[in-house]
Amino acid sequence: MSVVLESSGHLGESDVSSALTYEEFGAESARLGRQIADRYQRYEIETTEVDDVDPLPHRFLVEVGKIGLAKFIIKEMIHYRGQVDIILSRPCTYGVFSGPVGGFVPRPKLCVGCLRCTVQHPEFVSVLPNPDRLNLGDSYTTHGHIAAIDEEAKKGMVPVRGQGYRGRFGGPGFDGMLTDMSEIVRPSRDGIHGRELIGTSVDIGTKPMNLSFDSSGNLVGSSPRMFSIQVPFIFDVPPGDLGTRQMARILDSTSKRIDTLICLPAANVLDWEMDSANIVPVVPKSLPEMVSEFEAARLIELDGWDIAALEIARAATNALLGVRISFTDGWQERFSQAVNHGVEVIHLNADLHGRGSDGRFVSDLFKEAHMMLIDQGRRDVVTLIGSGGIVGADHVPKAVISGLDAVALDLPVLFALQGRSHGSMTDRGEVRGTLPRKMTDEWAEQRLANLCASWRDQLLEILGAMGIREVRRLRGEFGRSMIVRQLEDEAFAGIEGYVSGGPA
Ligand code: SF4
Repeated sequence: MSVVLESSGHLGESDVSSALTYEEFGAESARLGRQIADRYQRYEIETTEVDDVDPLPHRFLVEVGKIGLAKFIIKEMIHYRGQVDIILSRPCTYGVFSGPVGGFVPRPKLCVGCLRCTVQHPEFVSVLPNPDRLNLGDSYTTHGHIAAIDEEAKKGMVPVRGQGYRGRFGGPGFDGMLTDMSEIVRPSRDGIHGRELIGTSVDIGTKPMNLSFDSSGNLVGSSPRMFSIQVPFIFDVPPGDLGTRQMARILDSTSKRIDTLICLPAANVLDWEMDSANIVPVVPKSLPEMVSEFEAARLIELDGWDIAALEIARAATNALLGVRISFTDGWQERFSQAVNHGVEVIHLNADLHGRGSDGRFVSDLFKEAHMMLIDQGRRDVVTLIGSGGIVGADHVPKAVISGLDAVALDLPVLFALQGRSHGSMTDRGEVRGTLPRKMTDEWAEQRLANLCASWRDQLLEILGAMGIREVRRLRGEFGRSMIVRQLEDEAFAGIEGYVSGGPA
């Protein structure tokens, strides 16, 4: 039997416009489905390894006693009968002693710290950590974080040394949180290698907690006002003296490339004519009428909470409105008021060590903000973005577990561009940094894209290991994290000598 069907009108220009049989309709649907599938492109960030323009100090100092080395070489010459390449290459298989004059001028940048040479020849070789390297950063953003960011921005890959994880197993800040990776099931590797999807996109804006329909089935009441970005991190206002026009240009092009956002002071956006969909102008709360100047921005932030400023801004723009709230005294009150007055995005700010003015760490502060919304039954009404203390790839999922939708990056940008900090690394306003003189816009954009790709890949690794299909479902998943101090308390409380939280 053959039945005549009409085209549904949903299939696009090359649709079936005339009546078709079942068989023809099936074939045509398959063809269109194939066309759509062929056009589909999985989101990915293109990476390319880039050269250093101002490399970090190398990790180790290799010191060689010339007399001891000379004696060793004489012995080797007798043993190897003049095979110069062998003689000059030993005792390091990484090439530290393989320069034109062998170990007399070692090449410490090649040293990986395996310590074979010092074990074999302690009488004339010593390998020591390079103090110039150890002096990078500070107590929070350590030389280890800076080196990891440098490598991620150079290669765009997940840094793997093949030595397993060497610690820390617990510690202050985000090191005090472990994630539960017991769900090694699909979409674990399939999601990471692209055979299945693990979503890293997040929604920015507001969604009603429920939908209402009239008797005809039409949606009534509030509806979602939001847009999506492809990664749960955005670029924050460059801290201190980093907010130059060149930096804004680089962040702008990178954020367009990876489909995320960049916050910039509103005055800079106007002066530099940068109004666009990926730029979030940060408007002083004393000048709320400024919001009307931005036609392309999808999100505009007011710098600080003020009811009157919000009302003026709301009347002057159709863009989503966000408010930046610092974790200073009374932030809970300002936060509640902003949510009560319908603010759609709240950007929570801690200092660059991730601390509020009361000394609490952001994982606790983000959790408190998230739980306030949960308790009020309106978590989805607001997007929470947080900044401060995010300096490692693992900090992104840990901040999301603590209740955020997305994080904002500040100092990692400086280190991804091989810049050096010589101001405060705690107080945003006091950050002072120098960027490499040989830096070009293209080089810098690729470095930042590499960093984002590496951090996204590491996020996929964690989501895969936790068996979570998209980062949106990770938000507030406290049950899938473990706090080291609590684990230690459970195990050791009551044992003589045990001090909760470690030695004072
Ligand atoms: S520590 Fe290892 S890598 Fe470094 S110089 Fe010695 S042998 Fe070579």
